[in-house]
Amino acid sequence: MYKTDYHTHTFHSDGRSNAEEYIETAIKRGFSEIGISDHILICKTDETWCMAPSDLDNYYENISLLRESTKQISVKVGLEVDYIEGKERDIVKMLEKYDLDYRIGSVHFIKGMISIDSSPEIYVGKDFDFLFRSYFDAVTKAVKSGLFDIIGHFDLIRIFCQQPSFDPSPLYRDFSKCLKKNDVVFELNTNGRNKPLKDFYPDRRFLGILADDKNKVCVNSDAHFAGLVGQHFEEAYRLLRSVGFTEMATFTKRKREMVPIPR
Ligand SMILES: [Zn+2]
Ligand SMILES: [Zn+2]
Repeated sequence: MYKTDYHTHTFHSDGRSNAEEYIETAIKRGFSEIGISDHILICKTDETWCMAPSDLDNYYENISLLRESTKQISVKVGLEVDYIEGKERDIVKMLEKYDLDYRIGSVHFIKGMISIDSSPEIYVGKDFDFLFRSYFDAVTKAVKSGLFDIIGHFDLIRIFCQQPSFDPSPLYRDFSKCLKKNDVVFELNTNGRNKPLKDFYPDRRFLGILADDKNKVCVNSDAHFAGLVGQHFEEAYRLLRSVGFTEMATFTKRKREMVPIPR
């Protein structure tokens, strides 16, 4: 049984455990690989949940040392990179000197709204239908940018349980086609369980669409402390198998290999 968890946050960004604690927990829970993927944001803001480009050398050095020195489990060095439209070239330049195992591309900002996952209050008085479409527009651009191996929580906008007034299935269908065409992996992110949504990203009703298009998936916890490594993964594996997925993606130095989804 080959288990991986590629989406975790340490003290380098907004996590509350260090990388060693993630590694230790992953070993105890029978994982074959554990990846660290702290937040990096190219723009300078007052946000404290992410690293700035000037923090990257230190982050890369620390995590890649663990990648080399850890024997009991395969440690992967990743990043969760905020996709900012118009900053693609800067993102390429920022990342090119690091030998990462994978890049997760995520959208936390749309239409001037900072951290759409920060609180439900920021949605008050806003047109949710417009924001929902805008979010899909942004993640679609992130996929097309060619910058990323994995697209993170691609319907994060569901976090506070709000629903658009229209049927969103065409958006999921188009996004699924876009993933396939651009050969980008999506993650089943189990951290929505800890949010008002109380479920996974993406919306389980549309996972069958992603499977039918033969998309590639990996299962990630988005843990912000080590105790959440592998949270709800058995359920996630069952769910993926139930809609037709049989394999999941692993990455080494940005080269992808597929492994069976654990039973
Ligand atoms: Zn995220
Ligand atoms: Zn994250």
